[in-house]
Amino acid sequence: MNRKITVNDRSYDWPAQPVVVVCIDGSEPTYIETAIADGVMPFTAKMLARGADLRADCVVPSFTNPNNLSIVTGRPPAVHGISGNYFLDPDSGEEVMMNDPKFLRAPTIFKAFQDEGAKIAIVTAKDKLRRLLGHGLKIGAEGATCFSSEKSDQASLEENGITDVVEMVDMPVPDVYSAELSEFVFAAGVKLMDRDRPDLMYLSTTDYVQHKHAPGTEGANAFYAMMDGYWAQLDAMGCVLSLTADHGMNAKHDNAGEPSVIYLQDRLDEWLGEAAARVILPITDPYVVHHGALGSFATVYLPEGADSAQVIARLLAVEGIEYVAGNADACARFELPQDRIGDLVVVSKRHVVLGTSESRHDLSGLEVPLRSHGGVSEQTVPLMVNRPVQGLADRRLRNFDAFDVALNHAVAVQSAAQ
Ligand SMILES: [Zn+2]
Repeated sequence: MNRKITVNDRSYDWPAQPVVVVCIDGSEPTYIETAIADGVMPFTAKMLARGADLRADCVVPSFTNPNNLSIVTGRPPAVHGISGNYFLDPDSGEEVMMNDPKFLRAPTIFKAFQDEGAKIAIVTAKDKLRRLLGHGLKIGAEGATCFSSEKSDQASLEENGITDVVEMVDMPVPDVYSAELSEFVFAAGVKLMDRDRPDLMYLSTTDYVQHKHAPGTEGANAFYAMMDGYWAQLDAMGCVLSLTADHGMNAKHDNAGEPSVIYLQDRLDEWLGEAAARVILPITDPYVVHHGALGSFATVYLPEGADSAQVIARLLAVEGIEYVAGNADACARFELPQDRIGDLVVVSKRHVVLGTSESRHDLSGLEVPLRSHGGVSEQTVPLMVNRPVQGLADRRLRNFDAFDVALNHAVAVQSAAQ
């Protein structure tokens, strides 16, 4: 069988076995490297010895929504339109969440495969991504399955293509701030693979653990050991596994454990006048407890007539800033949609984050020293396959090649289970 599906100007072979792509939210490569070295990921250690252990670049801003949508469309935000979790809608002048599928400008790989008869299953930890990932799919008894751990007890046939998820998974509905929210995704994925054997499955976790725990710590290793067990089960069912991340994660605090923050709005107010410029932090979402809306990427709308070259020069002189550029340059470099990015893009260094005004960030929820993401320093992510791969030399791999690598480049081998 040599059937090909083309979507967003890329083509994919029809899967011979079920393909499972996993987006491990916030999985800086050292989490897995350390967990393997510590002996807590025995399956992954074996898998990487016979399969592929690659690294890829994620999309900058290295945030959750732009990267999840890149993975499932196979293209950067310039094509699919989701440039952040949050943006300034130029039509309304309002700052809004980009969770609504109306902001999506490209069909997903799932949609293209479903149109040709493939069975699709999508499980996400947080519900915020569900509607974007499932956009355009026929859901229901004959259609795709698409639900979140967070709202698993509310799953219905019409909205999610499944009922009684909690009974199927046999786990209580987890708290939104917990490691179990991600474990539920894998437990559900294994049950669905066993029951429905979908052609394409996408499992997307939450970075609650990575925001709190550094690589090699007990909390991190326990989380990676948990995932290892579920990946082994999917491998044993004969699936092709393609594992990547939406972004990395770094410590963003000083030696005293205080967040290292550059409050951009405060600086710009001082330079240009109170509220003349407008700083937008696309990391912002309703779940700010573990990062206080502090990440390493910001976009700035300047007042009419502002001297942008001068503002860029002043920002570049601020200690802790890594990159500042105008809209056109930044959107060309990071492949972003120009109409959803402000006049400037600002990226901070590895251990520094960007805020708006000091008074607008509630950091009371930060129980541990800040770990966050958003910048170029969190761009390297794992791309691991439980099969050898071929034909990828001389290519800059992206996390949004996860389906391409699994469908077009994984070498067919008999798994132990077949
Ligand atoms: Zn994320």
